[in-house]
Amino acid sequence: MKKQNKVKTIVDAKLKDTTPKEDWQKNRLEACSSCKFNSDNKDDLSLTDLAKVALNGGKSTCLACGCGLQDKTHSKTEACGLEGKPELGEMRWNRIEILTSTSDKVDILNGSSENYNFDLVKKDIVYEIGRIEPKQKVNISFSLKPKYGVKIYDLDVKAGCSCTVPEIKTIDGTKKVDLVYTSGSGRGVVVKRNTVKYKINNQEYTFSVLLKGRIV
Ligand code: SF4
Repeated sequence: MKKQNKVKTIVDAKLKDTTPKEDWQKNRLEACSSCKFNSDNKDDLSLTDLAKVALNGGKSTCLACGCGLQDKTHSKTEACGLEGKPELGEMRWNRIEILTSTSDKVDILNGSSENYNFDLVKKDIVYEIGRIEPKQKVNISFSLKPKYGVKIYDLDVKAGCSCTVPEIKTIDGTKKVDLVYTSGSGRGVVVKRNTVKYKINNQEYTFSVLLKGRIV
């Protein structure tokens, strides 16, 4: 599986009316409104900052990633500009969906976006579950949404160990997967691999869903 090309995502955003209408976008803008990386909240903009704002037509800009905030928050495939920059601070909002390239037949929806960010890294979906406690339950939910009117058959999810319990439901052709992971009693790094298999037109597809975090 491959992510949709970033340029296409940006062009799509520029062509759409990105006025905030949905609650999820309003919530994102609310989180940005008090963030120190929002250009509106910085009095002494550097030349680099000014260039980023100018590229967005003078509108509110995320100085962590350079994107215009209205367009960025309108795109479900975007995550907070602090993604991958933990040295700058914690992310304030997460990715809601992954649009895949036209050669792939499913898009992936994040049913846990209020709590956890996900991304498509190479061919695996990676959920960052952060710092958790011993014996803590983590509920992850994602869906496979078919494209081009195709149907998904024989979906199977194999958990890497008995600490994760998968459950599959079908809703209007979209396959929803719930994973409940319970951390162990020891402390340390968590990497849990769950293997997803399904068929479309008798061809089998597979990818992994990795839960990554740390028990503290
Ligand atoms: S996208 Fe994230 S880093 Fe950028 S302004 Fe919004 S909350 Fe801050």
